[in-house]
Amino acid sequence: MIKIFNTFTNQKENFEPLNFPKVKIYVCGPTVYDDIHVGNARSAVNFDVIRKYLIDQGYAVTYVVNLTDIDDKIISKALKEKKDFKEVSEQYINAYFQVIDDLKIKRADLYPKATDHIGEMISFIQDLLSCQAAYVSEGDVYFSTKKFETYGKLSKKKAEFLMEGTRAEKSELKKSPADFALWKSSKLGEPFWLSPWGNGRPGWHLECSTMIRRHLGNSIDIHGGGIDLIFPHHENERAQCEILTGVPFVKYWVHNGFLIMDGEKMSKSIGNILKAKDAIRQFTPEVLRYFFLSAHYRAPLNYTYEAIQACQVGLDEFQMTFARIEEVLKYASQNQGENLLTLKIFIEKAEEQFHSAMQDDFNTPQALAVLFDLAKEIRRLLSKTSSAVSPDVKIWLIKAREFLIKFGTLLGIVKELSEDIPQEIYEQAFMRACFKKESKYQQADQIREKISNMGFLIEDLHDGKFRIFSKGKK
Ligand code: AMP
Ligand code: ZN
Repeated sequence: MIKIFNTFTNQKENFEPLNFPKVKIYVCGPTVYDDIHVGNARSAVNFDVIRKYLIDQGYAVTYVVNLTDIDDKIISKALKEKKDFKEVSEQYINAYFQVIDDLKIKRADLYPKATDHIGEMISFIQDLLSCQAAYVSEGDVYFSTKKFETYGKLSKKKAEFLMEGTRAEKSELKKSPADFALWKSSKLGEPFWLSPWGNGRPGWHLECSTMIRRHLGNSIDIHGGGIDLIFPHHENERAQCEILTGVPFVKYWVHNGFLIMDGEKMSKSIGNILKAKDAIRQFTPEVLRYFFLSAHYRAPLNYTYEAIQACQVGLDEFQMTFARIEEVLKYASQNQGENLLTLKIFIEKAEEQFHSAMQDDFNTPQALAVLFDLAKEIRRLLSKTSSAVSPDVKIWLIKAREFLIKFGTLLGIVKELSEDIPQEIYEQAFMRACFKKESKYQQADQIREKISNMGFLIEDLHDGKFRIFSKGKK
C-alpha cells in the first residue's frame, strides 16, 4: 500500500484514490515569462516520478499541468520588450517544453492555458457572487474569505494573522486584508477581456480552480506544487472551489521542498538562479535527475556544483554495470561456471526494498540506494569471477538488468543504450549470441528473424560480438 504525505492533515496517509483505479493529478505549472530555473525543474521531476510510479503500480493516471500565460510579470516583460504578451508567453512555453523533453519528463495529458478559459472564469466569478462569497469593488471582484469557514486550514494560518494581513495586502478596495482578487480591472495599456465588471483579467488563484474543475471535475486525488504555493495560492484555490461545490476539492495535497542556492530558495526575484537549460548543458539530464532525486521530495535540497559532480561519478559507475553484465552474457553458458547464489538473494531483496521505499511517500533517496547497492554488488561479484557463469546466473543477471533498467528509467537516471534500439532488442540479441555459442543455430536463427520482424538487423562481428541496426538506418 502506497503511503503519501498530505499537507492538509500533516501526516502520511494510505493512498486510496477517489475512484480506483483512476487517479486525477493537477500540478501548478510555470508562469511563462522567462526560462525555468533548476528549482522549477526539481519540482517538475519530483511530480514526474510520483506520476510514473503510480502508473507502474497500475493506476490510470490523468495528469494536468497548467500554463499561466497571463500575469503581471508577462505583461511587464512584454511592455519592456515592446512585444505582444502572447509573443512572450509563446516563446517561454516553447522553452519550457524543450526543458521538459530534455529532462525526460513525461508530457502531461493536458496543458491548459489560462487565456483559453476566460469565459469559464467569468462564470465561476458570477457563481461566487450569486452565493455572496464575493463582492465587486470598483471594477475588481474580491473573494470574501470570512465567508469560508475553514479558510486557513490548509496552510495552518491563524485567523488573526489572516485578518491583520501584511501592508502589501491592505487595500481600500477590500473588505478584509485576507480577501483576494478574482477579477482585476485593467490599467491603461494592459491586455484585457470584457466582463460584467468592466475590462480586466482574472486572478491567478481563480485560473487554477477553473481549469481543475473544467478538466478534472470538482474533486481530484492529488494537487501538487512547491511549498511556496501552499499559501496563498492553494489556500485560495480550495476556498473558491469548496464554497461553491460543498465537496472536498483535493484528497491529497502534495508539496515539494525548495531547491536552495546560497542559503535561500532559488528564485528569480532573489536572483540566485541557474537556468534549467544551462544546467542540462553543463551536466546531463540523468545526472540532474539523480541529483534531484537524491533528496526526498519534501526535503530542502542544496545546490552546489560539487554535489552534482559527485552525482556524475556515482552515475558513471552505475552505468558501467550494464557493460559488465553484457560482457558476461556474451560468453557461452557453462554448467560448471560460477554459480553465484548470493546474487539471486540480493536481487529478490532489492526488488522488495525498492518498492517499500517508493511506497513510503516516494522515498527516492532510499530507492536509489537500493538500485546502486544492487549494481555495486553485481560489479563486485562479476569482478571476482571469470566470464563464465552458469546458465542460472545468466538468468539472474538478465533479471537484475531488467529491474535496474526498468526502475532506473522510471527515475530517469539510466542512459539509453542507443537512441533508437529498444532494450528488448538487445535482450533478444544477447540470447541469440548465447545460442550461437552453444551451437544451437536453429534457435539463433529464429531470434534473428524475430528481431528482423521488429525492424532491426544484426551484423555478426568476430569473437561472438555483434552490432544492431534499425532497418531504416543501415
Ligand atoms: P513558478 O513558475 O514560480 O510558479 O514555479 C513553478 C513551480 O516550481 C511551482 O510549483 C513552484 O512551487 C516550484 N518552485 C519554484 N521555485 C522553487 C525552488 N527553488 N525549489 C523547488 N520548487 C520551486
Ligand atoms: Zn495553481
